[in-house]
Amino acid sequence: MGTVWAHGQARQVETFDTVNPATSEVIGTFAVHGRAEVESAVERAREAASWWAGLGWKNRQTRLLAWKSHMIRYIGRLAELVHNETGKPIADAQLEIFLAVVHLDWAARNARRVLGPRRVPSGITAINLASSLEYAPLGVIGVIGPWNYPVFTPMGSIAYALAAGNAVVFKPSEFTPAVGGWLVSSFADVVPEHPVLQLVTGAAGTGDALARSAVDKISFTGSAATARKVMAACADNLTPLVAECGGKDAFLVGADADLDAAADAAAWGAVSNAGQTCIGVERVYVVESVYHTFLEKLAERMSGARPGDDRESAYGPMTHPAQIDIVEDHVADALARGGRAVIGGMQSIRRPYVDPVILADVPETSLSVQDETFGPTLTVTKVADLDEGVALANASRYALGASVFVRSKKRALAVARAMRSGMTSINSVIGYATVPALPYGGIGDSGFGRIHGPDGLREFTRAKAITRVRMRSPLNLTTLTRSDKDMRRLLSVATLLHGKRYR
Ligand code: NAD
Repeated sequence: MGTVWAHGQARQVETFDTVNPATSEVIGTFAVHGRAEVESAVERAREAASWWAGLGWKNRQTRLLAWKSHMIRYIGRLAELVHNETGKPIADAQLEIFLAVVHLDWAARNARRVLGPRRVPSGITAINLASSLEYAPLGVIGVIGPWNYPVFTPMGSIAYALAAGNAVVFKPSEFTPAVGGWLVSSFADVVPEHPVLQLVTGAAGTGDALARSAVDKISFTGSAATARKVMAACADNLTPLVAECGGKDAFLVGADADLDAAADAAAWGAVSNAGQTCIGVERVYVVESVYHTFLEKLAERMSGARPGDDRESAYGPMTHPAQIDIVEDHVADALARGGRAVIGGMQSIRRPYVDPVILADVPETSLSVQDETFGPTLTVTKVADLDEGVALANASRYALGASVFVRSKKRALAVARAMRSGMTSINSVIGYATVPALPYGGIGDSGFGRIHGPDGLREFTRAKAITRVRMRSPLNLTTLTRSDKDMRRLLSVATLLHGKRYR
């Protein structure tokens, strides 16, 4: 039990603390919200949702743009909170916030174009009808977030759900509630009238209560194991779900690749955010003619990356202490199965930090190839050609992002298309995540549904189809007075339109 402040009053409630993973210093104390608190937040959100939907596109856009500008004006304060709760360097936190704002801006500016009413052709059979399509908000969206990108990741749902006209109840990870609280209170600064974006805090129990509440959809980001539990909880009310889960992203290097650029990108993709990135580089497949040169260049770059808590550090500590055990298990398993540590090894695990580790000659059946490691490590494997690289890359139950370093544009595009992934970046890493017009999401254990872009806006809406009679129908079909003559006419039209032979 602990004391928290709510509505200007101190209350004794069950609480939890968040700590700085580098220093173990307590950052804040937060209430564990139970079923009753979650349900009343959803009830308040229901009212707020109808007010927000009623504001219309233009007014919502203005408010969302005001929110983004607020975030940029206070980027220093927010970045410090992100740094304190996750341990990532301030500069990385600023980059994360900037990218979140790019998405918020796009969602605000494009919601009407993507979702607003439009005429659609009725077709010759329904020539008497005027048809239109529009996308209506679902109502209240429950967003359950992870800790690794506590601004960018939930904003991929929050910004698009709000722009589509929904209210949101947000449960940030129990590791990053202060960042979640900042986002919610900064939104309330620009939209003070109704609780259109609310915060509930806590761990699994609070997330479960949100999934079982009367929300109209859950947008979940986290591990596949948790997604299965959330999906089961959603099943009770047939609540739909978007699941953005983990990855085991592959990185392919072709014989004609720019090896310096490839090594640079693979190194950054592996160690940035201490490797705690769902679309981080975890498995590298290199065509044999350039394997040794690439490995040397990669080792040179990765051995220069030092984790720490100061401004010179390339990345920070592991945010989630339990994740260090997983990284340790994966490295130990790779070495026990005959893998070779090109740089680093078991000694690289210096809690709360993990130094970069490159593993080579690791069997494809090992943990570090099969499961999400989520640490600053990667495996590098020699392949005969790009076809073998694609086959190995695709032999994973995860399929989130991927990267391909191939100079020939035609070949690179063919390989990108052949990759079993939601997104593929050619000659860079994570390019697609920085483009707000592109959808983002996975396949298999990486989840389903899409955030970002037009698909991400539509994910938080229901399609509404409307037809209006604009003249008498030449075919008198949907009536009890239909005659044999009407049917003869229909059959001649059917033969004319659809009866020809196709070869
Ligand atoms: P997690 O699955 O442990 O937790 C995610 C969220 O779910 C947290 O808010 C947690 O409190 C909540 N939760 C836990 N149990 C729950 C339950 N039974 N019911 C409802 N909610 C519950 O994941 P994490 O450790 O916070 O995040 C890391 C994972 O997220 C990694 O697998 C990473 O790859 C993935 N991730 C995916 C994306 C993406 O966009 N695809 C982005 C970031 C992170």
